[in-house]
Amino acid sequence: MTKKEKKVAVVGGGPAGLMAAEVLSAQGLEVHLYDAMPSVGRKFLLAGRGGLNLTHSEPFDSFAGRFGERRAQIEALLRAFGPEQLREWVHGLGVETFVGTSGRVFPTDMKAAPLLRAWMHRLRAAGVRFHMRHRWTGWPDAAAPTALRFATPAGEIELQADAVVLALGGASWSRLGSDGAWVPWVAERGVAVAPLMPANCGFDVAWTTHFAERFAGVPFKSVAISFTDTRGRRFARKGEFVATASGVEGSLIYAASALLRDKIAAQGSATLLLDLLPDRSAEQVRAAVLHPRGARSVASHLKSRLGLEGIKTGVLHEVLTREQMHAPDTLAETIKAVPLRLIAPRPIDEAISTAGGVRFEALDAHLMAAALPGVFFAGEMLDWEAPTGGYLLTASMASGVAAARGVLLHGERDAP
Ligand SMILES: Cc1cc2nc3c(=O)[nH]c(=O)nc-3n(C[C@H](O)[C@H](O)[C@H](O)COP(=O)(O)OP(=O)(O)OC[C@H]3O[C@@H](n4cnc5c(N)ncnc54)[C@H](O)[C@@H]3O)c2cc1C
Repeated sequence: MTKKEKKVAVVGGGPAGLMAAEVLSAQGLEVHLYDAMPSVGRKFLLAGRGGLNLTHSEPFDSFAGRFGERRAQIEALLRAFGPEQLREWVHGLGVETFVGTSGRVFPTDMKAAPLLRAWMHRLRAAGVRFHMRHRWTGWPDAAAPTALRFATPAGEIELQADAVVLALGGASWSRLGSDGAWVPWVAERGVAVAPLMPANCGFDVAWTTHFAERFAGVPFKSVAISFTDTRGRRFARKGEFVATASGVEGSLIYAASALLRDKIAAQGSATLLLDLLPDRSAEQVRAAVLHPRGARSVASHLKSRLGLEGIKTGVLHEVLTREQMHAPDTLAETIKAVPLRLIAPRPIDEAISTAGGVRFEALDAHLMAAALPGVFFAGEMLDWEAPTGGYLLTASMASGVAAARGVLLHGERDAP
């Protein structure tokens, strides 16, 4: 079979699937891209809403370290297509990038839409055929792994490809297309799947109604959190997060979310210590609290001596009784370590990303499933997780490149 006769079905038009389609079409293969939604890249566009964080400029070793237990597998993908290559690729689409103060890399205009437009233009020019509103619903009974079944507006269809790339995403923000419905279909075909879990997610806290009504949406700024994870390692970091009606969310919480989620799973809850004044030592705080306050209320004393007010004072009232608020030692200690008990991660649909997915042990080095010859997996549906910071898009695209190269190698092996 020649390249032109080879037909590859890419299912899922997120960054992973689009990247696979680009690599395959550039090699002259006939590429058909299917997506359940009316248009591709919906989560990618959402990611652009708050400023599209494409990748990170830190040294490669630190970058690879962000993938934790899956470092070895993701590092192998990043060596072929890593943060540098991603930036070059973006520049190749006519979009300039810049490095923010935190080292994060963004398009100059921060947006995803111009990038996606240029990308789609390139893919169409390369001959990729897009089939929207095609929801993959698994394999026809007893069919070959590369035979697929779709629900379409015209009814159910079945088709046969020479190779398949599944890039169906995780299970967050299901209204944008990625709903995790694929898990049982893939598992039934003998491909091991780790349970999907929320990653970069918020958590529930049993706030009082008073606190929730008053402070939902209000940020905790310039604070620090610390706790010990299930393996006895201490996590401590400065940053900010937001109180919600049901708990907490935001960058500092997301950074700790994998460890907090695992701790809740193991122990039923996780208590983190919130330092309301990380730039002041415990002694400084104690001296300020102990300073004679005369006729002033505790609230105005805390405000004038320590600048504590609003949500920071509010959270002290959440955890201390009236008497404790008037006990200077207890109050000073608590300002440096407010115990916040997290009782559950927020539902996966609200999360930024998904942990769990197709286990690497079920795949070869080219992301082809041992149980499904000719079927390759890419993107967030694989079993890895990473913090926010551009790592999610970079690894999704890197795996799209790897799966496509796997298809090409597979084709060469099959060629007469
Ligand atoms: C609010 C938000 C902000 C984010 N910001 C950033 C950021 O700034 N930087 C960053 O690196 N990451 C960010 N992410 C994460 C990033 O968007 C994802 O990691 C990335 O989109 C995953 O790419 P993917 O191609 O694997 O999956 P997806 O982008 O989820 O794409 C999967 C595609 O598969 C399709 N699909 C699913 N099931 C089927 C089916 N059965 N049949 C047919 N099609 C199907 C879906 O419709 C979808 O188009 C953000 C995520 C969210 C929610």
